[in-house]
Amino acid sequence: MLPSTSEEELPEIRVRDLGRFSSRVHVVGRLVGVRRREVVRRSDGGRRTLLSGFLSDGSATVRFTWWDPPSEEIDRGTIVRAVGAEVREFRGRPELVFSWKTKVGPAGPAELPPADGGEFPPRTVRELQDGDEGFRLEARVLRVAPKPVSVGVERRIVHEGLLADATGVLAFSTWSDFALLPGEAVRLGGGYVRSFRGRRQLVLDEGAVVARIDGAGLPPASAWLARPPRPIADLEEEGGGEAATLEGLVVGLVPPSGLVFRCPSCRRLVTGSVCRVHGRVSAVADLRARLVLDDGTGAATVALGREATERLWGTTLAGARERLREVADPSALEELLAEAVVGRRLRVRGAATCDDFGLTVDPEQVEPAEIDLETAAVELAARLPEAR
Ligand SMILES: [Zn+2]
Repeated sequence: MLPSTSEEELPEIRVRDLGRFSSRVHVVGRLVGVRRREVVRRSDGGRRTLLSGFLSDGSATVRFTWWDPPSEEIDRGTIVRAVGAEVREFRGRPELVFSWKTKVGPAGPAELPPADGGEFPPRTVRELQDGDEGFRLEARVLRVAPKPVSVGVERRIVHEGLLADATGVLAFSTWSDFALLPGEAVRLGGGYVRSFRGRRQLVLDEGAVVARIDGAGLPPASAWLARPPRPIADLEEEGGGEAATLEGLVVGLVPPSGLVFRCPSCRRLVTGSVCRVHGRVSAVADLRARLVLDDGTGAATVALGREATERLWGTTLAGARERLREVADPSALEELLAEAVVGRRLRVRGAATCDDFGLTVDPEQVEPAEIDLETAAVELAARLPEAR
């Protein structure tokens, strides 16, 4: 695909030097953000395909526009050699345009200068928003763990964890194993941010660059993981957060809690063995508890999975099924669970998200808080509705 014309003699230049060239250039770079779309020509209504994003060569990152790109998928992270690209100015910054006059061909990582993410403009965790890309982030890894997932028939490993700088905590995920370790400080470039169920997440794909840094300016991981609890009202006002710690009294349960039945395919709760997506299924028993935790400033829902519910309730899934045979009514079982948990003071840490129903915490850690029984009884009496 490399050109055999005299254009090949255009000297290759670094992206950082683009500003000094006004016309046609020869660059090699990695496409770190790629979006394909169609535009309609005003003159005749004809359609043209357009690929746009960022091209980075380790010296700098520049926005690019590629008219009529090849029809096959061009992935993020693809390295290209573009000979005869035009340099235009967009909002005072150079931008590359690949037109029919540009010869664009594949290139290999060895043709790029080694990158360390420094070419991207810096951002902090607090500044990042859904859809952001083409930035660098210096952060400390709070934790990271591999998680097997099924992609179609394939089993793959996704590495998930949390990162933090002085401004906040951010979830991240990557299919690539960057061998990240908890506690280490890193500079990350070429990732992008997406929101999933109200949680921002930094996605690091093959195009991302990870460099180890000394991290002298970053707080230690313990500063985030051992923080004292925050008032629920404050967390709610901030729209939740990663690694949020809160503490309060359990004042109730949101039904259905206790013994529930799930679709074996999608894990949705089912009633009468009918999943609203998969129809009639052979439902699987599970335990869960949606606790209402109140700290006096507000209330949050803490969604406990099976293991945490078993620990808190002191009843296993098998035990709960046994009890169901005796009481024959799942709501009676829910009352037994409520008796076991309401009035307990818990400290909870996890990802907190905020929606129309308020703050919900997906806990990583639930532990009994230091409790002064008398104070707790008074507090509980003050917060429970009169009717109870
Ligand atoms: Zn289902």
